[in-house]
Amino acid sequence: GGRRTFRFFEPSMDENARARLQLQQDLRRAIAEGQFELHYQPLLCFSSNVMTGCEALLRWRHPERGMVPPLDFIPLAEDTGLINEIGDWVMRTACAEAASWPSDIRIAVNVSPVQLKSPTLALRIAGALSAAGLTPERLEVEITEAVLISDDNVALGILHQLHDMGVRIALDDFGTGYSSLSYLKRFPFDKIKIDRCFVSDIGAGSSSAIVQAVVSIAAASNMTTTAEGVETGAQQSALRELGCTEMQGYLFSPPRPAAEVRALFAAHRADGRTASSFGRGPRSDAA
Ligand code: C2E
Ligand code: CA
Ligand code: CA
Repeated sequence: GGRRTFRFFEPSMDENARARLQLQQDLRRAIAEGQFELHYQPLLCFSSNVMTGCEALLRWRHPERGMVPPLDFIPLAEDTGLINEIGDWVMRTACAEAASWPSDIRIAVNVSPVQLKSPTLALRIAGALSAAGLTPERLEVEITEAVLISDDNVALGILHQLHDMGVRIALDDFGTGYSSLSYLKRFPFDKIKIDRCFVSDIGAGSSSAIVQAVVSIAAASNMTTTAEGVETGAQQSALRELGCTEMQGYLFSPPRPAAEVRALFAAHRADGRTASSFGRGPRSDAA
């Protein structure tokens, strides 16, 4: 290793590098061969019990490995820059799908910090909206605070361009990582998504106090709040009590393929069923 250092070679080093390279090649092929698909997870308003939107979640149907979850390939796509191409596909596909939904249903799309380094992103998003014929108000872009950690003027500039167009901006996974309340001052977010970790132990410890604090901060700045990962009726009641605006989680619905979500809209409108009647667990994510 130089400088009076020696290191032992481990076969696993080679294996890791090979696996990464393979995944990278597979990812390029996935784009070319259309192996990606989007699933959509509904969001439900606490006060009216109606669906207000869906979050688009990326799925990769790998020819040999089956469904690969996003967290297994998005980091590599970010490292290699492939996330830009994938992200553009996600945006175009999600906007086109949402254009066929009832007009009061929004679409939320995750945008990686890497995508926010590209000065033309706002232009490409505007292109996706107009190609789909979707009004900007129906699109919500979800970003994580990683975007705000470095005082990144390119990213902030893009967020302002999008906001000026009428696109809503949500701060995702709030409360994890390097969360700092000062990030809330760097951009006028429309929504805070409260991370699942506060929802899962809402009955115990300090989580409910934290959720309550976030709800108050949000309300004071005209932001709404979405509780993520709601799995039980008890969590739902506690969150409603604390004043959260919306919920998202397996209790109401897992992410589902486009066709299932369209059927869900029809059923939801037809008989105005309540939240728990759709709780079927993460069924569509398997396979
Ligand atoms: P996220 O944005 O926080 O998305 C929510 C994740 O929580 C999704 O995982 C969803 O399936 C899962 N989830 C929803 N309800 C529940 C619940 O009740 N219980 C539990 N345990 N989990 C629930 P998923 O689909 O595996 O996505 C993981 C992450 O991958 C996302 O986290 C997001 O950061 C990223 N991701 C997904 N699609 C995209 C995309 O198109 N672009 C980018 N840049 N990132 C994406
Ligand atoms: Ca998200
Ligand atoms: Ca999240």
